[in-house]
Amino acid sequence: MSNILVYALHYDGAINKNSLGAVSEGAKLAAELGGEAHALLLGENVPQDVAASLGRYGAKKVLIAEGPEGLAQPLVDAMAKAITDGGYKYALFGGGLLGFEIGAGLAARLGAGVAMEVTAVRAEGGELVAERPILGDSAISEIKYRSPVGIIIGRLNAFEAKDTGGADAPVEQLSFELSAHSTQATMVTRGEQRGADVDIEGADILVAGGRGLGKAEGFELCEQLAAAFGGNSAVAATRAVVDAGWYPYAAQIGQTGKTVAPKLYLAAGISGAIQHKVGMQSSENIVAINKDANAPIFEFSDLGVVGDLNKILPKLTEAVKAKKGS
Ligand SMILES: Cc1cc2nc3c(=O)[nH]c(=O)nc-3n(C[C@H](O)[C@H](O)[C@H](O)COP(=O)(O)OP(=O)(O)OC[C@H]3O[C@@H](n4cnc5c(N)ncnc54)[C@H](O)[C@@H]3O)c2cc1C
Repeated sequence: MSNILVYALHYDGAINKNSLGAVSEGAKLAAELGGEAHALLLGENVPQDVAASLGRYGAKKVLIAEGPEGLAQPLVDAMAKAITDGGYKYALFGGGLLGFEIGAGLAARLGAGVAMEVTAVRAEGGELVAERPILGDSAISEIKYRSPVGIIIGRLNAFEAKDTGGADAPVEQLSFELSAHSTQATMVTRGEQRGADVDIEGADILVAGGRGLGKAEGFELCEQLAAAFGGNSAVAATRAVVDAGWYPYAAQIGQTGKTVAPKLYLAAGISGAIQHKVGMQSSENIVAINKDANAPIFEFSDLGVVGDLNKILPKLTEAVKAKKGS
């Protein structure tokens, strides 16, 4: 029987969406393998009811490890102990920077195989096969594990969270030892990135920026235009720029981000990849600015402007300000 251990990130009394997706995916895969998915949370005073609620996402048991939250090394210690004691065949992470760090550390500790940026997993002949986009997402590679333990690290939000409304899961305490090096780092502060508190799903006007902005500072052009529109306007982003660290994940539109339908979606320097399109195609009006007349985004835009956004966005901002008399 192949059981799967899923790491769930707990912060401020809640488990993040990315982790809930990983638990749901783990439960689905474990059922296909004839096993169970269990979840592990690490933190100081993790509420029992929050841990138990993972039963609704398919976890059959939840382990709580008492230790410093939000750091990779203590989690490697806890996951390694749980996997060794519990004989788990696979460990699954929802992704994100912490997931990458823990997964890599765990693979080294256990001599396990690891696949990162996984976008799909399937059960085949009693084993899991992970799919990972390669070559700039133009092809998919398939990964099978030869090692006794396989570590799967998803792409951020690649797995859908499914609340089945099932019963709470039993919760057990996991005792484990922190390695000497795991106590060397402490969390000093934790906060949100610029723009992380913006409600893009409720905005009437979204000014979305892509790789065509050139650099993180390029987003100032989008922010200035959104400010000129005023009211219920906000700035959104593509995955490419979120992955590059130019803008926070909270603003990402698309398959692995948010789905929006504002009155106006203004796309600046965005090519219009299918994974982006699925998150914004229901917008009432789509206006695209792109210097490439053949960019796919023009195929589903109501108005297309071919040109350099560095020239067009400031002029548009001035025009909006003039129209509003501000
Ligand atoms: C499983 C999976 C999930 C994904 N999920 C998402 C998702 O949720 N959201 C998402 O957005 N993507 C997602 N992607 C990635 C997606 O495939 C694209 O790579 C991404 O959307 C491209 O972002 P972009 O348009 O900013 O960059 P690019 O594709 O690089 O496009 C940049 C555009 O800017 C234009 N440009 C450059 N300079 C200028 C200028 N000065 N003025 C005007 N235009 C200019 C270029 O002509 C180009 O069209 C996903 C991919 C996979 C495989």
